[in-house]
Amino acid sequence: MRYLKPFILKRSDYEDVENQLQVIFRSEISHPLVAAFLLLYPYPVEQDGFVLHNVLNASDEHMSMRKARNIISEGIRIGKFHYKDGEFTGDFDSESSAAMRLLGGEKQGKEARWRLEPAGPIAEAIAWRGELAEAITQSLLMTLRQIERANEISRYEIDASGSIEAANESLQKSLEAVAVKKQMSAEQEKFLRETYTENMNLYIKNFTKERVVALREKIEELYAKGDRIEAIADILADEMGIERRRADFLASNESRLMAVHYRQSSVAELGLTRYRWDARMDAKTRPDHAALNGKILKYSEPPIADTERGLRANAGILWNCRCVDMTIIE
Ligand SMILES: [Zn+2]
Repeated sequence: MRYLKPFILKRSDYEDVENQLQVIFRSEISHPLVAAFLLLYPYPVEQDGFVLHNVLNASDEHMSMRKARNIISEGIRIGKFHYKDGEFTGDFDSESSAAMRLLGGEKQGKEARWRLEPAGPIAEAIAWRGELAEAITQSLLMTLRQIERANEISRYEIDASGSIEAANESLQKSLEAVAVKKQMSAEQEKFLRETYTENMNLYIKNFTKERVVALREKIEELYAKGDRIEAIADILADEMGIERRRADFLASNESRLMAVHYRQSSVAELGLTRYRWDARMDAKTRPDHAALNGKILKYSEPPIADTERGLRANAGILWNCRCVDMTIIE
């Protein structure tokens, strides 16, 4: 049997859309949150965490009460130590432990927990941190509500012409084997463009909703634990990685689906009605698709490709399916 060359998605087919999605996600989700955070947070911030600076430069030996109070209150202000219910926790080294002892603190157990009645500059630092944590938390929760509201009414224009062109070119190349040329009509192109944008809008909205819920939960959880401002900053930095990965997945998945749909309807029109189902046959291949591997099928009669949900689909059509339809020429 002879087959047409199958469609294999390349990174260059979808990276244009991927970049557009990244810009949308950043401007809709992480950047408003980071801006809200930086507006209130008074220390220098690096993208992946915090630069703690000018802290704890006193020497252990001649520590004065004044210096000891400074070490603890500065540590409180920059989030190195936390205070809750009469106890100080955090990253105590030999110097800050010495400061605690000098101030009359009592070490609790083996963990770095100290019991001490806060007073003077330490009490001020604790109050200041409490207000800061409250202000940042409220501001982020408000920003999340704005993101949620904007998401409901937003409409995103996605330019998928690069992906559509790649799908068309791939089909032309495959059809060289049967010496046939089949141009994509203006109508088909318009349909593909519109469907692509429609689907992407749905995915963007769902992703944004999902992230708003997840971020709200995390921020509220950290706030309930006491003052965890720096942990919130880490979450915001992680968020950008999550957005990057989702942009990659959505762009590649949708570009592949669009190309496979276009291709399957085109070859069927040319009278090429049958194909061989080729699965990747690795650890990630679904059992349903492994069972279909090598089978000869008709495009017009898609097999059950998801037994659990009773879904019929040709190769490559289901969400994240990596199987390929090998169109039979003769
Ligand atoms: Zn598959």
